[in-house]
Amino acid sequence: MTAAVATVESGNGRRRVAVLGATGSIGASALDVIARHPQHFEVAVLAAGSNVPALLALCVKHRPAHAVIANPAAHAELADGLRQAGLPTLAHAGEAAMAELAASDACDTVVAAIVGAAGLPSTLAAARAGKRLLLANKESLVLAGELVIAAAATSGAEIVPIDSEHNAIFQCLRSRQAQGDVRRIVLTASGGPFRGRPRAELETVTPAQAVAHPRWSMGPKISVDSATLMNKGLEVIEAHHLFGLPDARLNVLVHPQSLVHALVEFVDGSTLAQLGLPDMRTALAVGLGWPQRIESGVSGLDLLAQGRLDFEPPDTDAFPCLRLARQALVAGGTAPAVLNAANEVAVSAFLQGRIGFLAIPALVEQTLAAMPATAAPSLDALLETDAQARRTCSRLIDRAPVHA
Ligand code: NAD
Ligand code: MG
Repeated sequence: MTAAVATVESGNGRRRVAVLGATGSIGASALDVIARHPQHFEVAVLAAGSNVPALLALCVKHRPAHAVIANPAAHAELADGLRQAGLPTLAHAGEAAMAELAASDACDTVVAAIVGAAGLPSTLAAARAGKRLLLANKESLVLAGELVIAAAATSGAEIVPIDSEHNAIFQCLRSRQAQGDVRRIVLTASGGPFRGRPRAELETVTPAQAVAHPRWSMGPKISVDSATLMNKGLEVIEAHHLFGLPDARLNVLVHPQSLVHALVEFVDGSTLAQLGLPDMRTALAVGLGWPQRIESGVSGLDLLAQGRLDFEPPDTDAFPCLRLARQALVAGGTAPAVLNAANEVAVSAFLQGRIGFLAIPALVEQTLAAMPATAAPSLDALLETDAQARRTCSRLIDRAPVHA
């Protein structure tokens, strides 16, 4: 890599990367790309939720300066494990330590790959501290998009979206600035494992069926979100914050092959698209190397072998979550935070077998109805909304066996 990347390199000439959510699907893809370029990147911080053995295994392999586990009760286990492995890695625990490290001199690049609103504190800390922020944690933008984007603008943090659609748009625009010459953006959706099924058939689908995504290999929460189309709804809100376009100029097309990741249409009628195999290492390599292109381990696209590209409109009758998310975006204020929190609680209950698949949109809709949108003036107000929406949705689940 050359000059443009060198400007943010550390003293020893390598960029120091913090991977938050290291034990997850995006974390694994990020570490795979980083390990292909030892001369340019070093793993400085590894952070995970509660799985100490998995985090320790990654520390042995990548030898970070710091390891953080979110669960404070797991600190001793992490510290003992690092000592027994003979590693100099320092052990930390808790959400605050994670945010502090993300903002510290320990790293210059942060891969935000924690799942859910739990990723907000560290994402926001990295944005405020002016890091290069490889942002996979879409829930933090849905919950507090204005705050994250404003923090990055103030500090000069460079956000590179990692969500494949947003990364595709970033590549087409070569920035995050959708100027007046952009007519609309089209996000593609695979349609998930239940594409084409009528609503009645979705009543009895199981968590195992819902997480078996036809095209992408991902963590359980986003896999369920893909099956309900809530993932695309969250992504519309995410695109609104990242690229500054209103709901009406953010379109969605179902594209089962998942090879075209997004399209940008300009005022002159020209459309640019980004294509590639469905493998998140491409987006992560863009984020790590930008504006250079670096090897990701992903092969190129053989369109003759793929044969065809199909497109169809989303079915918002069978999959109402996309409509609910758009309504929350238009309502503004606290509505997206309520949508996100209710969805996290409902998806978790579905994965535990406590509610049926169709209860997910029903619960999100009921929680939104119970908490009409108000202005969201501060981070505290948004966090309070998030907590209240979680309580409201949990009560609805406890009270309503009809969902089972
Ligand atoms: P995953 O479930 O595979 O991994 C989640 C990671 O977050 C794990 O390392 C886990 O330990 C960590 N974590 C969970 N709770 C935590 C907490 N309270 N504090 C700290 N860490 C915590 O999820 P994933 O599929 O890798 O997705 C991660 C994020 O990236 C999500 O926001 C998802 O929407 C987004 N994303 C993922 C993909 C994909 O292909 N997997 C694509 C686009 C966007
Ligand atoms: Mg996506």
